[in-house]
Amino acid sequence: MKVEDAPKHQGLRRRLIEELRQKGIHNEQVLKAMMEVPRHLFFDSAFLDFAYADKAFPIQAGQTISQPYTVAFQSDLLAAKPRMHVLEIGTGSGYQAAVLSRMGMRVWTIERQRALYKRSQEIFKALRLPVKGFYGDGYKGLPSFAPFDRVLVTCGAPELPQKLIEQMGEGGVMVVPIGAGSEQVMTRIEKTAEGEIIQSEHGTFRFVPMLQDKSKAS
Ligand code: SAH
Repeated sequence: MKVEDAPKHQGLRRRLIEELRQKGIHNEQVLKAMMEVPRHLFFDSAFLDFAYADKAFPIQAGQTISQPYTVAFQSDLLAAKPRMHVLEIGTGSGYQAAVLSRMGMRVWTIERQRALYKRSQEIFKALRLPVKGFYGDGYKGLPSFAPFDRVLVTCGAPELPQKLIEQMGEGGVMVVPIGAGSEQVMTRIEKTAEGEIIQSEHGTFRFVPMLQDKSKAS
């Protein structure tokens, strides 16, 4: 895969970052990483012109690349610091994982659509991002790599995924959109050193659904 990031793309990206600021995103680490990651590379070439609008967009396998505002919002809410271990559920295009990696986190990400898993692996490699991608079921998490400091779910979970809570370390944070319908409530879960769970809600968003294990799917 060829990495082409022209001044035109950089200019469009600068405008997008300005738009995110105006919409209330003030986390400079997040904005810097989004300025650095060429979002257009996560699009099929025919749709390059759509890459820097603040909108979600269809990708392969009937899925979507999240809206830039949503990526910024979730990244901010995660309150992650460089070198933290982050587990993402729903690699999709790979864009969100790339942003977290660019922010200095160590990222593990799981996708249940093989085509998306494969394509995202190519992009991570082309951008030289050390993201560790897995093809599998996000409900199971990655027990052999746990505990994680942060867990980010980028598909709509019908309820709190218990196995992922188990894989959070002490002081861990999970950001997960919860809701079985077309809208989800952005939920932040904190696991205290005593193992207590503190839950807070942060507005409504729209995500594609978190689906069950393919082997069990009808
Ligand atoms: N973070 C992505 C957003 C992709 S949309 C991005 O930046 O582009 C959400 C993704 O979650 C879809 O690709 C969908 O296939 C995936 N998904 C849904 N249920 C899943 C599950 N149980 N395990 C892993 N991935 C899942």
